[in-house]
Amino acid sequence: MRGAAGVSIAPAGSRRLRSHDAQPLPAVEATLVKVLTVVGNRPQFIKSAPLSAALRHEGIEEIVVHTGQHWDASLSAVFFDELSLRAPAIALDLRTSEVATIEQALRATVTQQRPDTVLVYGDTNSTLAGAGAGAGYPVAHVEAGLRSGDLTMPEERNRIEVDRLSSFLFAPDERSAAILRGEEVTGEIHVVGDVMADAVARFAPLARERSGILAALGVEPGAFVLATVHREANVQPERLRRIVAGLGRSAHRVVLPAHPRTRNVLAAQGIEVPPSITVIDPLGYLDFAALASQAAVIATDSGGLQKEAYWYGVPCVTMRPSTEWVATVEAGANVLVDDDPDRIATAIGDARMPPGRPELYGDGRAAERIAAVLGEALPGRRP
Ligand code: UDP
Repeated sequence: MRGAAGVSIAPAGSRRLRSHDAQPLPAVEATLVKVLTVVGNRPQFIKSAPLSAALRHEGIEEIVVHTGQHWDASLSAVFFDELSLRAPAIALDLRTSEVATIEQALRATVTQQRPDTVLVYGDTNSTLAGAGAGAGYPVAHVEAGLRSGDLTMPEERNRIEVDRLSSFLFAPDERSAAILRGEEVTGEIHVVGDVMADAVARFAPLARERSGILAALGVEPGAFVLATVHREANVQPERLRRIVAGLGRSAHRVVLPAHPRTRNVLAAQGIEVPPSITVIDPLGYLDFAALASQAAVIATDSGGLQKEAYWYGVPCVTMRPSTEWVATVEAGANVLVDDDPDRIATAIGDARMPPGRPELYGDGRAAERIAAVLGEALPGRRP
């Protein structure tokens, strides 16, 4: 089903948790500032929830453009629905991850909209395309300065390039800011915290209160592993086979909400899934947050989920050789195991949260700070 702006809407009658309690803040006096926000992927819809509300509160006009890089309803529409996001003003529905195609379509939008800034989140191809399409306009990058050091990952190359192109670099912590200074980026660096922490603070309590997902799956709090796998490298058949074997050797029941591309590879390659692993469709944010915050251990290759695990106080096993969220590893809350089945199973068995862990990546008020910086800096800068 399609909405007026061409965005997929969840089918009528489907069960949805909604965050009615977390209504956006009312707008204050409108200014002339106009932000064009580019989203296209699951984590970006989540990151945009607190910032869209904060921009409205600051009186900043926001035009949201959805590239359609993620178009599957379970990766896109569900988030607009339950996080009370407004439907994107412009839905390009491109259904591709090709940077050149996305950038070309976004360039036409930017030229037509003439925003004061083009705002992009994270490290996906839509992020890079947005930053490229914003050439000639100030680009604002939320989640700037993250580095895993692994240039074989497309996300790492995207991060570096987007930071180089940005005029406003919103870094989650001092480490990221130092990296940006070391790379001699030309934009203004602001350490603001992480908008994903804002989303967790805003929505996770509701999720635990309202979600019936644990009961539906027949799992008890603290007695299951929540796993996600979707990185390009990890859906190569041999790696995926090893990862699934490792998860299957854990003593716990494993719940695996599978990204469509992971599910496709599992099926196409006939990868055997051990009976202790329950593969389900991707979940909306609230059901997922209810599971993540009550898991015994999180085993993942996701970037966002490594941080969420930390904020939820759940130990994390990262099935990658590197991470951009280095501080979670240094704090002893996250361990990198790559794809070795025995290491995965052992790490899950050994995973514990360290006592007295430090606050990482902000205090849940990053969106407010970003909106304040943009509100102050932008008027009058429109080309
Ligand atoms: N997530 C979700 N449902 C799922 C799996 C993940 O809502 O079935 C959320 C998760 O809580 C986190 C975000 O999606 O906020 C992470 O997105 P993803 O792993 O796709 O991207 P990454 O963070 O690796 O860029």
